[in-house]
Amino acid sequence: MASSSTFVTRLTLPRALRFLAGATAIGLVGARYYANRKPIRLDSSTKLPPGSPASAAWNNLTPSRDLAFDAKTANKTLSFPRNMVFAKELSVVAVEQVNHDTKRITLSLPSREEISGVSAGGAILTQHTPSNRYFPVLRPYTTISDPSTPGEIQLLIKHYPSGAASTYMHSLQSGDKLTVRGPLPGSPTWTPITSSSASDSKTALFVAGGTGITPLYSLLHSVLKNENDSTRIHLVWGINTAHDIPLKKELDQLLQAHPEKLRITYCVSRDSADISERQDSVIATNNTMATFRKGYVDRAVLSDVLAQETKGKTSKIFFCGPPTMQSVLTGRKGIFKELGFEGKDVHVF
Ligand SMILES: Cc1cc2nc3c(=O)[nH]c(=O)nc-3n(C[C@H](O)[C@H](O)[C@H](O)COP(=O)(O)OP(=O)(O)OC[C@H]3O[C@@H](n4cnc5c(N)ncnc54)[C@H](O)[C@@H]3O)c2cc1C
Repeated sequence: MASSSTFVTRLTLPRALRFLAGATAIGLVGARYYANRKPIRLDSSTKLPPGSPASAAWNNLTPSRDLAFDAKTANKTLSFPRNMVFAKELSVVAVEQVNHDTKRITLSLPSREEISGVSAGGAILTQHTPSNRYFPVLRPYTTISDPSTPGEIQLLIKHYPSGAASTYMHSLQSGDKLTVRGPLPGSPTWTPITSSSASDSKTALFVAGGTGITPLYSLLHSVLKNENDSTRIHLVWGINTAHDIPLKKELDQLLQAHPEKLRITYCVSRDSADISERQDSVIATNNTMATFRKGYVDRAVLSDVLAQETKGKTSKIFFCGPPTMQSVLTGRKGIFKELGFEGKDVHVF
């Protein structure tokens, strides 16, 4: 009769091998998906008419070298390995309190010549182990810095009072180390619309809730920076108050620099008594289109925004926000669907 340890070995070894084989297969499939992930397309279903100035670039969907890292170049410059196995220790070089609950944290990469390899809208994974816990706390955070900026990355972190990671992130000081992995698989790769003709340009609707702004800000910054990309963007951002808006200065600068390509609608759900004052000041000083509205990002707001944009040219919605907002907007009976956007028309971060 077999001893109990032999019995246990017979029972567990095949299961362990099966588990290992399964995990390896999932890892290989995941790595293959990650390596071959598709670029984001503004309108994957519609081909532009042949002969139009933009049609060659648009219909062939050539990835932009500015926004989508060329794999060969990036491999030489990436600070992060292209998998999530090996962590890096990055130094905190600056911490800025941008409003009552949000900090901007700048981390230096190991070399001043390196870029992170995190694409616009992409994220990294942070890790720390609290003293009273065995297991590490892992959380993804979006990099808001320009992907082509060498030597550093920036994160914008909102503090949740009982939040394990955000409380730790808010405790960091200049000189501290932070363990990170990345880029997180599934980071977007944007395909620009290259057109010299205004009639060929398309509008992408960016809809954010709270700190869901981070991937959309990163993406819109890169899209606007690319002079060859004629995509217009209308950002609709749901925020609590009209004061101390994180990234407001940066968004104002982008509005000033790209008045033809960027519109912003802020939807203020609380403390909105000061909206008219803000609206006047933004439009008067910048001569650009930033609008403040009272309430949540709802059907009425989105219908108005879509009506402002030339009919039929808003080709895709990009969304990032808290779970409740996501279910109201992107759910099967959600507002996006009511407005005619579904499936590939909606990209959720
Ligand atoms: C791809 C990706 C990118 C992200 N990028 C950013 C970023 O750039 N900046 C940023 O601040 N966060 C970002 N997040 C969210 C972040 O990863 C954490 O979920 C967040 O910081 C809370 O983690 P925590 O450990 O502090 O809270 P936890 O300990 O996980 O939760 C504690 C409590 O906080 C509240 N809470 C936690 N998360 C949320 C939430 N998202 N909305 C509302 N209440 C919440 C809940 O009440 C919860 O019970 C991102 C998430 C993903 C998936």
